Amino acid sequence: MFNMEFDAKPVLKKSYKTFISQLNAWDRDGTTPMLASEDMRFALELQRQHWKNLGLDVHQQIKNIKSGSKEIPSVNYSDRIFINHIVGTSKMRTTKISRQGQEIYDQTDEVGTNVVIQQLKEDTQPSPDMALSCPHCGAPTTLAQIESGCPFCGTGFIMDELYPKVTNAFFEVHPDADGKGSRRSLILLMGSGVLLMLIYYLINYLWFSTANDSLIGVIIAGLIIGFMVWVLTRFLGTLARMGKDMRGAGKVGKSLRFRNKIRAIDPEFSSEHFRDRAMNLFRIAAFSEDATRYTSCSCQRPASWDPVIDATLQNFGVNRYSIKGNDCTVDLTLYMDCLIYRKGKIKSRAQNYDLVLHKKITQPTDLGFSIKAVSCPSCSGSFDAEQVRYCPHCGNEYDLSKYDWVLTDIR
Ligand SMILES: [Zn+2]
Ligand SMILES: [Zn+2]
Repeated sequence: MFNMEFDAKPVLKKSYKTFISQLNAWDRDGTTPMLASEDMRFALELQRQHWKNLGLDVHQQIKNIKSGSKEIPSVNYSDRIFINHIVGTSKMRTTKISRQGQEIYDQTDEVGTNVVIQQLKEDTQPSPDMALSCPHCGAPTTLAQIESGCPFCGTGFIMDELYPKVTNAFFEVHPDADGKGSRRSLILLMGSGVLLMLIYYLINYLWFSTANDSLIGVIIAGLIIGFMVWVLTRFLGTLARMGKDMRGAGKVGKSLRFRNKIRAIDPEFSSEHFRDRAMNLFRIAAFSEDATRYTSCSCQRPASWDPVIDATLQNFGVNRYSIKGNDCTVDLTLYMDCLIYRKGKIKSRAQNYDLVLHKKITQPTDLGFSIKAVSCPSCSGSFDAEQVRYCPHCGNEYDLSKYDWVLTDIR
């Protein structure tokens, strides 16, 4: 199921607004964003720890655009119980990075901010033994338990407090949205044009004493040259940006074939959900010091990588896939815009990363599945499968790849 909505419902808009202010509070003083799912909180914590390990102090604040922000048409996809909405507007985001008290990066961009909001479908009631994380302490528990009070922290929640929740967020940078950079380069190029023409005039005058051209004419020629070079760089810049936006476009056919093949065994498969999962696995590999500590990763990022500070997905494309019975392996590329830390400097770069994901498809996609709180198929006890492979209640091995995609290789 895939739909476009041109106007998000008020309840979604409200969640979106609240979540943005919670992200700002998380950045300011580390207050846990209450609307974020446990998986998302985990990714945020990992990223912050990664910055700390690199000795960097990173701050990102999101503000409204003064002239009013454009709404991005929202998309939704659903399974039997949940519906996921992608809600977004454009915002201004400032990233400041310092090292040992010295600022090494300060950048403000207009960003298309997209947030994935999960709601219960109308007229559906999830089963009372559905596993979920306590929004207060994060402990793995069940719906029935949390409604009567979390067994770990005692906090009780009603359904309205559990949903909607935010399962993912994406920020897409709009380059030079205010045109300031472009105006600056126009002034610079016209100035350089005039300067070059004046030097040319002086050389002629001093060496050859043949200054027949009028000074005004020389200045105007300089301005025209500068302007023409500016038009050329704008044109080349647009071409380069188009090239960047088109990354992965050649793989659309293969990605669609993959989706159709996999839908034959999992009718609930959604490309958006798969993309979100691939991105989450990338975050674990890129931001943790040893990704193999977590059950969802059986590999580590190559030691040759420059540390990734932040990553925004532009596109993804399937390179190869194999489906043997229920065993599915996909080799895919994530096309991203990243902040990279290299030789004491922060660089903004277009980067591609190749991932191999694996899943045993035994049942349809479950949008409510969270690795931080799973239900044991043997004893139905709930636990955090990100940290342990064996059920702490009955000791049976939990095969995560039957329920979600796992990362087997990253390059
Ligand atoms: Zn709790
Ligand atoms: Zn068990």
